[in-house]
Amino acid sequence: MIPFLDLRAINQVHRADLVAAFERVLDSGWYVLGQEVEKFEASYAKWCGAAHAIGVGNGLDALSLVLRAWEIGPGDEVIVPSNTYIASWLAVTHVGATPVPVEPDVHSFNIDPNRVEAAISPRTRAIMPVHLYGRPAEMDTILQIAERHGLRVLEDGAQAHGAAYRGKKIGAHGDAVAWSFYPGKNLGALGDGGAVTTNDMGLANRLRQLRNYGSKVKYHNEEIGFNSRLDELQAALLSAKLPFVESDNQHRTRVANDYLKGLAGISSILELPSADEDLQSAWHLFVVRSKHREILMRRLAAAGVATMIHYPVPPHLQPAYATLGMARGRFPISERLHDEVFSLPIGPTQSADQTRAVIDVLTNAVASLD
Ligand SMILES: *Cc1c(COP(=O)(O)O)cnc(C)c1O
Repeated sequence: MIPFLDLRAINQVHRADLVAAFERVLDSGWYVLGQEVEKFEASYAKWCGAAHAIGVGNGLDALSLVLRAWEIGPGDEVIVPSNTYIASWLAVTHVGATPVPVEPDVHSFNIDPNRVEAAISPRTRAIMPVHLYGRPAEMDTILQIAERHGLRVLEDGAQAHGAAYRGKKIGAHGDAVAWSFYPGKNLGALGDGGAVTTNDMGLANRLRQLRNYGSKVKYHNEEIGFNSRLDELQAALLSAKLPFVESDNQHRTRVANDYLKGLAGISSILELPSADEDLQSAWHLFVVRSKHREILMRRLAAAGVATMIHYPVPPHLQPAYATLGMARGRFPISERLHDEVFSLPIGPTQSADQTRAVIDVLTNAVASLD
């Protein structure tokens, strides 16, 4: 059996460090907003090349707190990819603004920068590129467009810890990056967690206040804030795992390169992720496309290989967004991707033999299609 992502094995590697971190927090008697969060924020900011990191409750809050800090709300529009995990859209909706979807480039899966400008209206306040599956979005073009139109750029980095765009790590290309430390991400806590990185000190200060009841000084409230903090325990656990993300990502890259080489012969049936020398993907997911998705996934499952679909239903066709009135056919590129993509197992503990086995099973499955 080849699991999709073996979280237990991934965390067992760090068992001693995680247990030590837990004991340190347990014995400290201090569990919310203390030294562990400060230490993690400082090291995470440094790690991704940003001036500031602010720990928050989860990735969705990281996104929506930034929008809130920018005072984006009812009547405003935020440009989002039509092809993304729904959380990117939810953040916009949660502040009362309207998500304006833009279609992806069919080969990169990421927002197509050439379509962004046509979606800008007088109400547009920000652009939210998502580095989907760990692959950086086309930041240079997006930043140029934002600059021309006076828009902010909030990157959704939830799948892109350690990814780099033109040699510079994701962390502060745009005005802010929202991160998730959900257990299955490339840097995962043992529970929920999130952060924002930015070079903007004003934004950092505002976020520290917003995440903590709108308060800078205990029991003195400057604004209507939230309770969304990365807690001391998760921060301590993340500090234990952070030094290993780089080598984990290198391992993921080896798995991805093995797939790219091993599956090249069946690339007419199975479209593989496209290469781009300017980008270093974090390889959060290895997503392929095929018109024969269902049968290939069934054959893989029968041979003990777990696969998943990221994602089966695009946000505009979710019942949650029925009120936007966007019918099937409105975003055909995204819809086609959702109908054809599936993800192969990839992770920092996946062995070369396991990767080889996936390649063999998939090659046989494709051969028996006709
Ligand atoms: C996981 C994820 C989020 C949300 O993060 P949570 O911590 O689960 O709230 C947002 N955007 C993308 C692209 C994600 O993959």
